[in-house]
Amino acid sequence: MHYLDNSATTQVCPEAAQAALFAMTQEFGNPSSTHTAGREAKKLLDRSRASVASALGCIPAELIFTSCGSESDNWALLSGAESMKRRGNHIISSVAEHDAIRRSLDLLEERGFEITRLKPGPSGAVSVEAVREALREDTILVSLMLANNETGAVTDIAGVSAALKAAGSSALLHTDAVQAFMKIPFSPKSLGADMISISGHKIHAPKGIGALYVRKGLRLKPIIVGGSQEEGRRAGTEATSQIAAFAAACDVAAPKIAENAERMRTMRGEIIRRLQTDIPELRVIGGGAPHILSISLPGWRSEVLMNFLEAREVYVSKSSACKKGARSHVLEAMGLDSKTIDGALRIGLSRYTSQEDIDALCEGLRDAHAMLAHR
Ligand code: PLP
Repeated sequence: MHYLDNSATTQVCPEAAQAALFAMTQEFGNPSSTHTAGREAKKLLDRSRASVASALGCIPAELIFTSCGSESDNWALLSGAESMKRRGNHIISSVAEHDAIRRSLDLLEERGFEITRLKPGPSGAVSVEAVREALREDTILVSLMLANNETGAVTDIAGVSAALKAAGSSALLHTDAVQAFMKIPFSPKSLGADMISISGHKIHAPKGIGALYVRKGLRLKPIIVGGSQEEGRRAGTEATSQIAAFAAACDVAAPKIAENAERMRTMRGEIIRRLQTDIPELRVIGGGAPHILSISLPGWRSEVLMNFLEAREVYVSKSSACKKGARSHVLEAMGLDSKTIDGALRIGLSRYTSQEDIDALCEGLRDAHAMLAHR
């Protein structure tokens, strides 16, 4: 199989799978138990937190494990806004965010917050200038994704942070870095962010594990209440096997971010060059991140192309997996015409992507174009 849908999810790496198995079968105690088995599990949890925190570039106490990127996004927005509501009522985000952010914004709107949803520019990213213009005295929260999950467009979060500081704004800055984590180098400090969402299954860890970075000193009300796990910030027995796997995946990926990014960027460039040669009407949409390529064959239907590729075991997607085939709100927000949107494909690379995968994709699309054009 030629799996090129790595922005939807990734193959679990052997190191992560082994770490999960070890945690499930050897150090399987409850980290809150006071006996030896519990203490061993707590040590595993602490080691794992240190690994993920180091990969992100924060201290372990600033990293809280969640069940997924969506939970991290929900928590950052709902509790972030709540914690600031005495200072104001206005939130800035964008129309190109993941649904985990968009639905949280809808909820906040129902609760009386006023939301400004910025439009991305032609690259697919929101400009710092647009944030500056939208900023008000009562703005309490800005949430913008770092790398867009459909186009790979990278927003200048550090620039947004600088703009907030220059304006003397006390607004919290959150970024959804689910697609950027371990793909492009950044740290909370380099971005100037107060909250950052990440997710394991995009970086070769299993599904069902995420984390939220919360800057030291910022107290967020829990949205999952119960026990006092995660220093009382998120209840629920820690998912030690997924957490151990997340840490193992970080340990493998972190030292090679630049090397892997370079390789994926080269592959991305090769795909574009080959497809542009074989398919003159091909359109490349936005871009920025090394591992995501959004293209369109205007006038063609994504589903037809995907079926053609699937027959050759080449897996790509139309847009975000959680849209389940629905039209892309991101491409619509970019103001693209309907022919371009309806013919869009998203190609997601990973460090496991091989030359054979690239060949199968390029040859598949070339053949699809040649065969279907003559019908
Ligand atoms: N944010 C972005 C940008 C994503 O791409 C995704 C997943 O596709 C999420 C959030 C949600 O992450 P999870 O699947 O871990 O809930």
